[in-house]
Formats: sequence, C-alpha cells, structure tokens
Amino acid sequence: MNLEFIKSNLEALKLQLSDHKVTLVAVSKTHPKEYIEEAYKNNQFDFGENKAQEMQSKYLSLPKDIKWHFIGHLQSNKIKYIIDFVYLIHSVDSQKLLSSINKEAIKVNRIVNILLQVYIAKEETKFGLDKEELDQILSNIGQYSNIKICGLMGMATNTDDQIQIKSEFAHIKSVFNEVKAKYFSQEPSFNILSIGMSGDYQLAIEEGSTMIRVGSKIFGIR
Ligand SMILES: *Cc1c(COP(=O)(O)O)cnc(C)c1O
Repeated sequence: MNLEFIKSNLEALKLQLSDHKVTLVAVSKTHPKEYIEEAYKNNQFDFGENKAQEMQSKYLSLPKDIKWHFIGHLQSNKIKYIIDFVYLIHSVDSQKLLSSINKEAIKVNRIVNILLQVYIAKEETKFGLDKEELDQILSNIGQYSNIKICGLMGMATNTDDQIQIKSEFAHIKSVFNEVKAKYFSQEPSFNILSIGMSGDYQLAIEEGSTMIRVGSKIFGIR
C-alpha cells in the first residue's frame, strides 16, 4: 500500500494550522489501521472514530499513546467498549447518555472527559442539544461524579453557503461563552470548542474553534 499521500496531506494541513492554537483530530473512521499508523509515524496522535467497536479494535492493535476521540452518535449499550481508554467523547447529546457514561466510568474508576454536542445546523438529521436541554444538564452536573465537561461540539449544516456556516459557528461560540461564564468560570478545563471538518475548518477557526475534526482532507474519500 502506498500511503505517501497521508504524509503529504498531513504536512500541508499542519502548515496551514501552524499560526493557530487548534488541536487537529484526524478522523480515521472506516479506514484501516495502516492509515492510522502512517499518520502516527508523522507525529499525529489524536484520532477520531464514530463506531464504538471499531474504535476498540483499533485501540487494541495500535500504540497506546494514541488519544482516541469518539465523535459519533453513542448508544448507551456501546459505552462499555470504549470507556476504559477513550480520551474525549465529543458527542454527548442527552442527559440519559451522560448518566450512562457516568455509571460506566464509575465501574472502571475513571474520570471521563466529554463535550456536550450542541445542535446548530438547519437540518433535522443532526444530533445535538438545544439551549434548554443544555441548561437542564448543566444545572445538574454535580450528580455526575466521574465526568469532566471540557467544552462543546457542533456540526454545521452541510451546505456550500459560507455565510450560513459562519453564522452557525458564531452561534455556538456565543453559547460556549455564555456557558463558560455561567457554569465554568472557575474551571480552566472547560476550554474546548470542537467545530470544523474538512469542508469548513477554516471558517471554524475564524470563529474560534480550538479543535477541528478532519477526515477526508487527510485520508481521502471514504
Ligand atoms: C466524519 C466526521 C468528521 C470528518 O468529516 P470529513 O468531512 O471527512 O472531514 C468530523 N466530525 C464528525 C462528527 C464526523 O462524523
């Protein structure tokens, strides 16, 4: 397998990002573990997956200093596959899921880092919390002993309309600032805004992203 393209894609991307304080999560979902190894050899240590069992099997066969980011819709009965090694769960979109993650985290005696996924897109198909649900969860965070809420995640509408995307990112940035002021003003660990994918990461960075999730721009089409 000639995997040179991964190295050159990564280098080009990292050059673009070098002026910004942003963490690159390389989204490796559906790709074989050789792709991840190639990126790892080129100093990429954060990877994103969206299926629990796929992430577990990759974790088991790859270097243990990889940081595994779970970015997909997570079902409660699948948490057990990733709970003892996951670095950050980006996609917490309900109180029920949060409560299940907490239970599993207690079982393995870990504090698990999560982001709350906020609904910002125009499409009905995207998962996420609205403002009201967000407030409901945040006013009850005391009960989740083994969860650390590190920030927010969002996905913009899948559209070519740059103005639309920009306004959705600006919106989540303002929600982030509000939530930080209201609930986390004393907690520096609430500092991640996960927005931006292959098609819109530049707009996301302009609007204040601290973590981008890029797949096809590194690994090619899925
Ligand atoms: C697949 C996926 C990405 C990466 O998408 P690309 O367009 O390939 O960069 C980012 N975030 C989430 C939640 C995804 O499911």
